[in-house]
Amino acid sequence: MALIVHKYGGTSMGSTERIRNVAKRVAKWARAGHQIVVVPSAMSGETNRLLGLAKDLAPERASQAYHRELDMLASTGEQASSALLAIALQSEGMESVSYAGWQVPIRTDSSYTKARIESIEDQRVRADLAAGKVVIVTGFQGIDEQGHITTLGRGGSDTSAVAVAAAMKADECLIYTDVDGVYTTDPRVAPAARRLSTVSFEEMLEMASLGSKVLQIRSVEFAGKYKVPVRVLSSFTPWDIDINEEARSGTLITFEEDEKMEQAVVSGIAFNRDEAKISVLGVPDTPGVAYRILGPVADANIEVDVIIQNLSKDGKTDFSFTVHRNDYARTIDLLKGKIVPALGAQEVVGDAKICKVSIVGIGMRSHVGVASTMFRTLSEEGINIQMISTSEIKTSVVIDEKYLELAVRSLHTAFGLDKPAE
Ligand code: ADP
Ligand code: ASP
Ligand code: MG
Repeated sequence: MALIVHKYGGTSMGSTERIRNVAKRVAKWARAGHQIVVVPSAMSGETNRLLGLAKDLAPERASQAYHRELDMLASTGEQASSALLAIALQSEGMESVSYAGWQVPIRTDSSYTKARIESIEDQRVRADLAAGKVVIVTGFQGIDEQGHITTLGRGGSDTSAVAVAAAMKADECLIYTDVDGVYTTDPRVAPAARRLSTVSFEEMLEMASLGSKVLQIRSVEFAGKYKVPVRVLSSFTPWDIDINEEARSGTLITFEEDEKMEQAVVSGIAFNRDEAKISVLGVPDTPGVAYRILGPVADANIEVDVIIQNLSKDGKTDFSFTVHRNDYARTIDLLKGKIVPALGAQEVVGDAKICKVSIVGIGMRSHVGVASTMFRTLSEEGINIQMISTSEIKTSVVIDEKYLELAVRSLHTAFGLDKPAE
């Protein structure tokens, strides 16, 4: 008998028919003698719908009071889907109970809309499991010290599941989704993408941080910190497929030190459409400029990603950086308001229609020329590189958003990642 955490994403929980399918699958695992904790997401589209209602009433504001209410609101999506799954399990003849984050409790800090899990008390869940019940724990949410409901950031149910698995020392955490594993890149963008049977923890961490939405980055961090075996697999196979076959399907995250994802130099391609570029032009090229521009941006709690400063000409330079698209207007206002006049810079320009494309692979540590292959491939496609950023196991470029698909597909081919033609 094993203790296994199942996580089902929004599409997997997208209708009552899908929820019944999930219930049948979970019942199969429980009847095979396993203790099962299920962490469901809200039904697909529900979180967007709820947040859209808030936006209809009042535009996004930076205030804590506003963000607290967003969490009150968005957390209801997971509460509804959890109760529906418990009802479906009961109708399959399984004893089942669902708990909201505060009932477990899953304790978090108070950063509404992007809270971090601090601890999980598992006595209640364990008692129910011991009594033979399937326990459902709402994804995406927790409770802070003052008893306010918090949420963990978009895609946060992945993190709830892995954190529950870590806290309970589960044997495995199975992340059921609408694709059958982790691919060399998003199969919706590059149809030639290949499923990986294993992916190293380090590469998964990079891919998630660079925009691969298949796993929320914090879930990968939890998996690494507590060495939780995590497998990504499909909830769209027939629910009654052989359980051993199902247990081996999908993609397993591995922790071996030097395991190379199928021995490729570049193992995957990630992309992010959520960024925007901002340039401060004609900045006097004197010491402290980066600090004088980015210091106030950081103080406003705006995260900066790629940064580039051009060579100086006649004592002036251009300074560019990227921020999340949601922070774009706020950052431009901030720069125009105080920073640019104080610096004596010429002007601020921005471009929200950019994207970041990254190649990832631990093999890049020991191979030279990988970045130049990337640059050559993009130049052959006529794609202009606006910014570059590198680390030991990744190279990222910022390009015009309209070239995203072309860039991803041509890099996928150039690095030998395409699946063999059928
Ligand atoms: P869920 O609702 O189950 O959490 P998500 O939409 O959050 O599902 O994540 C699954 C999606 O991630 C897939 O449908 C796919 O389009 C996307 N994706 C992005 N990069 C990858 C990748 N490298 N491998 C597989 N899927 C990816
Ligand atoms: N329902 C939340 C979202 O849409 C959390 C999740 O699906 O993981 O972001
Ligand atoms: Mg997700």
